[in-house]
This record gives sequence, structure tokens and C-alpha cells, in this order.
Amino acid sequence: MGQNSSSHDRHESKRKKQAKVVMIGLDFAGKSSIMYKMKQKKNLPSTVPTLGFNVEVLKYKRVVFTLFDIGGLFLKTKQLAQHYFEKNQAVIFVIDSTDKARMNDAKQTLHLIMDDQLVSNCKLLVLANKQDLPDAMSVDDVSRELNLMDIKQTWSIQGSSAKTGIGLLEGLDWLSKNV
Ligand code: GDP
Ligand code: MG
Repeated sequence: MGQNSSSHDRHESKRKKQAKVVMIGLDFAGKSSIMYKMKQKKNLPSTVPTLGFNVEVLKYKRVVFTLFDIGGLFLKTKQLAQHYFEKNQAVIFVIDSTDKARMNDAKQTLHLIMDDQLVSNCKLLVLANKQDLPDAMSVDDVSRELNLMDIKQTWSIQGSSAKTGIGLLEGLDWLSKNV
């Protein structure tokens, strides 16, 4: 009986796909807020920048996502960041769509990451965040500014708001189909 139940357990766990996702982006883009919103928390977190990293596990449809918010770790100490990219299947790159002044920084950062061997087989989801704000750039404009056409990996861009929650499920939906 013990054997039966353990093979049953194994079968059960196989039915859910596991997907490891690293979330990255310039500070203030909304990574922490998106993580909290995805976890259905009611309040946006304070604006304290992420010092270390946050990890959230969340289920969406048949996928169990382990989401690592590593902030700007990739750029600071690549050796440390390397650990988080092991077995990683997707990158979520979060953009503050209202931050025109740093759009070029964001582009350079994005391409620097996606050109790295660490993520050569990863899918890329760009969240053009803060779409609830009136001065947000459109998804098309963000797409153009970031030069997404030059990304070699499979990518998608989704407008989002950590405040209203729009676009977040659509983003997870795309990931669940592509990881
Ligand atoms: P992080 O540094 O990328 O983790 O960014 P945070 O999640 O800390 O967000 C930075 C600031 O932007 C905070 O004041 C958030 O409340 C705000 N913020 C994040 N996402 C949104 C959004 O979609 N809409 C609006 N209006 N504000 C947002
Ligand atoms: Mg943060």
C-alpha cells in the first residue's frame, strides 16, 4: 500500500509543470508590487528598494511558478546572480512605462541580460508596467524603445498595472503556455 501511495504522489506531482522564473528590471519599475499583486495581497508594498531578493511560489492553471525577484543583482554581481538562473525557464523584465528618461537604460540592461549564455534558452515576458498612469508609454512604443525585434529568444510584451492588476494574469497565461 505504501508503494502504491508513493507512486500515486509521484504521478500527482508530475501533472503540475514547474517553472522557474527570474524577475528583473530597473529599480522602481514595480517588480515587488507585481509579486505582491500576483499573490493577491491587497496593499501595495512600501517603496523600499529590494536589497536581497524576494521569492514567491504561485500556481496558475497547471503551472507552479517559482518567481525570483532579484532586483538589480544581475548587474551588480553576476557570479551571485548565476545561481538564480540555474534551471531558469523564463525572464520577466519589468518596465516603468512612465520613465522615459530611463528607457534607454532599461533597453541596455535588457539586451545585456538576454545576450548572456545564462538565459539563451529562456522565454522573455516584458511587462510594460504602470499602464494605469496617464503618462505611460503605450505597449507599442515601449516595444519599439526596447528594440524587442532584436531579441533572439521567444518573447512577448504585455501592458500591466500592479495597482489595478490588469495584464498580470495575461502575462502568467502566456508564460504557462510557453515554458
Ligand atoms: P521595484 O523596485 O521594481 O520592486 O518597484 P516597487 O514595486 O517597489 O514599485 C516602485 C513604486 O512604483 C512604488 O511606489 C509602487 O507603489 C509604484 N508602482 C508599482 N507598480 C505600479 C503600477 O502599476 N502603477 C502605479 N501607479 N504605481 C506602481
Ligand atoms: Mg523591489
